[in-house]
Amino acid sequence: MNNQTCPQCRSPISLDNALCEHCFAGQGLEALAGMDPNWRSQRLARRLSLWFGSFGVHKFYLGEPVRGSLYLLFCWTLVPTVLAIRDSMALARMAPVQFYRRWCLKMA
Ligand SMILES: [Zn+2]
Repeated sequence: MNNQTCPQCRSPISLDNALCEHCFAGQGLEALAGMDPNWRSQRLARRLSLWFGSFGVHKFYLGEPVRGSLYLLFCWTLVPTVLAIRDSMALARMAPVQFYRRWCLKMA
């Protein structure tokens, strides 16, 4: 069976695989049920960094509450705004497999 698409990269994947062979995002029952606690969306992280990055929302989403708090604490200086723009460009350039290894595996 190969009629399933990966929710992260939208490549066709086999239902037998626990990980997508293209981006290594978790698949199977956990992913289908939305219960994988380590899975994070690269697209959502990038959108959060663009829209609410000055307040560190993307850092909280990516599991870095200390950095997120620093962004929030210093948001009036506009320094976090510059950092958030840099973060969003880095997230846009990052390959899905890099994103998965960096942000989805560390607490597994
Ligand atoms: Zn994939």
